[in-house]
Amino acid sequence: AAEIVFDNATKRYGNADTAALDQLSLTVHAGEICALVGPSGGGKTTALTLVNRMADLTSGDIRIGGTSINDLDPISLRRGIGYVIQQTGLFPHMTVEANIGLVPKILGWDARRTSARAHELLSMVGLAPAEDMAARYPNQLSGGQQQRVGIARALAADPQVMLMDEPFGALDPITRVNLQDEFLKLHAKIRKTALFVTHDIDEAIKMGDRIAILREGGILAQCDTPERILTA
Ligand code: ADP
Ligand code: ADP
Repeated sequence: AAEIVFDNATKRYGNADTAALDQLSLTVHAGEICALVGPSGGGKTTALTLVNRMADLTSGDIRIGGTSINDLDPISLRRGIGYVIQQTGLFPHMTVEANIGLVPKILGWDARRTSARAHELLSMVGLAPAEDMAARYPNQLSGGQQQRVGIARALAADPQVMLMDEPFGALDPITRVNLQDEFLKLHAKIRKTALFVTHDIDEAIKMGDRIAILREGGILAQCDTPERILTA
């Protein structure tokens, strides 16, 4: 796993008066989950889109495992990043197996290896029986199952880091708690460095090894353990 460092990362959209993200400096330690929490409009999604270069930094730098993201070409950068969003982003016309195999296929894995990886991931995220699940289309799955597939897809090519943007935000409360618990168990095994965005402070405390509070582009509290932030 690789450390993610935000070094005075600043993003100003167009000629907006205020920066969406203003000189954010933050370290996400290798193998940890850092929960980025704060009100809507605080710049959380912006921070994630800068990491995978869906948006360009206005100034400052972001490093993954010591390498500036500006020194990587965006396509190969993205292949090393697992991205999970609230709306899952699964392709409806593709089976679960094909959705999970997207990045491996692009990377040139052969069909057998891709399929074996998809089946392995389906059991890792608790979708059984894998043979049945692999052949389904997204609309044949519940919301919770779709988000499990979203997580499996993000992990397919064994990324260096994971970016998770309100991954459980669209789920009903019970499914949400189940997926939180299962993701924590999975994370304890795979130990991917992860940035986990949520507007829910309770979810941040539960999911984050450390949490950072973002408000209106600026950081209110540094990435630290929930205990230390809440008693500060
Ligand atoms: P959060 O994820 O914490 O809700 P965002 O990163 O989505 O915050 O937004 C931070 C600020 O940047 C907001 O003021 C928002 O309106 C603005 N913003 C976000 N994306 C864009 C964009 N593509 N173009 C212009 N402004 C944007
Ligand atoms: P989860 O806790 O993962 O959200 P649900 O309780 O919503 O699961 O779903 C329970 C069961 O119903 C699942 O095993 C799933 O296979 C099935 N199911 C839900 N939606 C659909 C659907 N649209 N088509 C087929 N099966 C479905």
